[in-house]
Parts: sequence; structure tokens; C-alpha cells
Amino acid sequence: MTTKKIQLSPLPYAEQALEPHISAETLHYHHDKHMAAYVDKLNTLIADTPFAEASSLEEIILQSEGAIFNNAAQAWNHAFYFEQFHPKPKREPEGELKAAIEKAFGSVEQLREQLERDAVALFGSGWVWLAADKHGELSIVSKPNAGNPLTEGMYPLLTIDVWEHAYYIDHRNARATGVKALWEVLCWGKIEHRYSQVGRNR
Ligand code: MN
Repeated sequence: MTTKKIQLSPLPYAEQALEPHISAETLHYHHDKHMAAYVDKLNTLIADTPFAEASSLEEIILQSEGAIFNNAAQAWNHAFYFEQFHPKPKREPEGELKAAIEKAFGSVEQLREQLERDAVALFGSGWVWLAADKHGELSIVSKPNAGNPLTEGMYPLLTIDVWEHAYYIDHRNARATGVKALWEVLCWGKIEHRYSQVGRNR
């Protein structure tokens, strides 16, 4: 049986590129140790199962449960998380995304505040998402552990990783300041691009 290995996607910038907002040490551990471990574990788990022939991580996420789901979703979530940052980010959304944010949350600032509140409020490990339904309506979705709104037919746009490994090196126990630092490197141009894909087949 041939096995297609799931590859570890590279960081889309250098480890030090997001300093001082996210340290090189955090990115090194987060990508090369934590994310890599999920990818390695997933490859071990799917070897000699039908999932070894899956054409994408999304396909595995939508069809699996238990340990395979957890490791596939963690691999996908981390690639999605790292891709949304940029050393010179577009700092505010425009156009259709901005209009949808204002409709759902009142303002971009109110969205940021709600995401921060929900990230602090999520007990234990997990992910807080800004996601769209197929009509482009926005909502915030909090998920424990590896949870991901793809499983509800939604389109993820932005995510905050609230696992301690995401912030403990730079912020120790202070999850709130770790979340606030993300706005300094979050690229709204990338979120606008994701929003432009909402409703497309996948
Ligand atoms: Mn993480």
C-alpha cells in the first residue's frame, strides 16, 4: 500500500520575523516542535488506513474522529494560524470584510475585544475562530482542544490558538497579553482573501 505522507508546511516567514510581538523562540517551538509532532503523529496513525490515501487534510478532518481527528485538525489549524501573520501586516480590514464585521459586531475594534474576551474565557486548551457561514455572515466560534468550524460547514477566517504552548514562553500565564500581541502581526489582507473564498466549493 502506498502511503501519501502529510507534509509539515514551512513557516511562511523567518522565525525572528514577527519579533518583538511573537519571539523566534516561541515560533521555533510552536512550529518545529508542537506542530511537527502533530504531523508526525498523524502520519503514524493513518499509515495502513484508508486515510493514508486522503487527498487533503480537510478530507481527513471531515471524516475522522478520536486521535486521527485531533492530530489532523491540529496540523490544519496550525498551518492556518501561522499563515495569517506577516511582519508588515495590513492592520485594518477594508471592503466587504469590513462591512460584514460592522454588521455582525458593530466595529472592527468591538470584534477584536470580543475575540480577546472569548480567548481568555475558553477554559483549558482550544481555538477561538472568526468564521463565516456560506452566505458570508460572521460569527465567533470557540472550540476546545483541536476543534475547528470546518466540521460545521463553516469557513474559518481567523484563529487564536489558546493552548499554553502558544504564549507561555513570551507571556507565561498571561493569556490575555499573548492574545493582544497578535493584533500587531495579524494581516487583515490575508483575512480579506479568505473571506473572498467563502461559499466556494472545497
Ligand atoms: Mn499551537
